[in-house]
Amino acid sequence: MNATLPAEPVLDDVLAARPTLWLNPQYRPKAIESAQLPIGPADVQRARVNWQRLAPLLATCFPELRATHGEIRSELVELQQLRDALGYRGREFGNVFIKADSHLPVAGSVKARGGVYEVFLFAEGLARDNGLLAEGEDIRKLASEEARAFFSRYTVAVGSTGNLGLSVGIASRSLGFKSTVHMSSDAKPWKVERLRKLGVEVVQHEADYTTAVENAREVADADPTIYFVDDEQSRHLFLGYSAAASELAAQLNERGIIVDGKRPLFLYLPCGIGGAPGGVAFGAKAIFGDNVHAFFVEPVQSPCALVHMMSGSQKLVSVYDVGLTNKTEADGMAVARMSAFVATVMREMLAGVFTVADDDLFKLLRMAWTAQHQKLEPSAAAALLGPEFLVHHPEGKRFQSEQHITDKMNRATHVLWTTGGSFVPEEQFKAFLRQAEILKAK
Ligand SMILES: *Cc1c(COP(=O)(O)O)cnc(C)c1O
Repeated sequence: MNATLPAEPVLDDVLAARPTLWLNPQYRPKAIESAQLPIGPADVQRARVNWQRLAPLLATCFPELRATHGEIRSELVELQQLRDALGYRGREFGNVFIKADSHLPVAGSVKARGGVYEVFLFAEGLARDNGLLAEGEDIRKLASEEARAFFSRYTVAVGSTGNLGLSVGIASRSLGFKSTVHMSSDAKPWKVERLRKLGVEVVQHEADYTTAVENAREVADADPTIYFVDDEQSRHLFLGYSAAASELAAQLNERGIIVDGKRPLFLYLPCGIGGAPGGVAFGAKAIFGDNVHAFFVEPVQSPCALVHMMSGSQKLVSVYDVGLTNKTEADGMAVARMSAFVATVMREMLAGVFTVADDDLFKLLRMAWTAQHQKLEPSAAAALLGPEFLVHHPEGKRFQSEQHITDKMNRATHVLWTTGGSFVPEEQFKAFLRQAEILKAK
């Protein structure tokens, strides 16, 4: 161990890998308006415009996007039977929804919002720089044989625990790029296989995610024909995710759900390196301001955002530094060290982090399937416990009191961001369910 954490109420839980809720002492109102931040609300707006410009090309490359004219959207699902199963029947739980990124088209996970965005923006920029796409020309030209032949001279590379690799690999191949995905040891075999079938080169590392990324970055730096999607630093990924917030705002609006000073909104976002949850939270802050409270969710052995933010350190603190193992079945969240960029942006904007045990992930996954036919992967199931922590945990109650929302909880809206699952092969999903059965019997 080579980092010490401050003696906050939940320190013992964190170090003993017990599920807990940590509140961020640096959480501040209006943090998004700070001039110190490297990005601002205008960047979220620009990302939305970029997505709209890319939409016709996306609809050309992916037939499944034709119905939405190239928009990559997920459903907002009201909790019904699952609400009872989770014990959220009481009025104190307000409205509870799932944001089903588990069923996002193209990549089957939240990564469709980040990886696809960055690859398509890169393609557009490259084409413009090389005279393949003039101002005002139809963007669908980038799906032509001529463009594909040009793109095939370039490689898009990425380091991944699995889903980012899927997203970047699928997006790159759809435009004709070569693609190399550096996988960590946590990567599930079916994800590796699926990528290889697409013609993606998969490099498997014996090491963890951080090391896989470092290797990938080194290879890319030495070769100008390799474009590296850098999960630890990328603003494009972050802003691609951020556009999800306006989609959520429209869906809440359609259902007549109001978010204001009397009706707070809670987001529960599974966190690996921090880009996806950070981007979504940032986008939400840009729209809902102080009326939205974003909480990250992490595995008890991989709470990299929790330990780093809790340390208050400028230098990144990893879960190994405090004696945790980074061992988890939730491969989407198996990250030992968070992104420095996300840490800077979220420092005063993150409400807190709660942690979940792997055994509970399998039970939740099974519950979501049997109660409401939601097919989730373990990482995605993590979000489901958010309302329980906010409503019943002592730190949740402290949060309510400090934010002066104790008497507003029955009008609050909770959004559980289920980040992946629909691409999990049937056999693998059955194995998840069997594992949950065994745990239940214990
Ligand atoms: C990637 C991923 C996350 C976390 O996203 P980060 O950007 O790594 O924080 C959560 N859940 C699933 C299913 C993922 O694939």
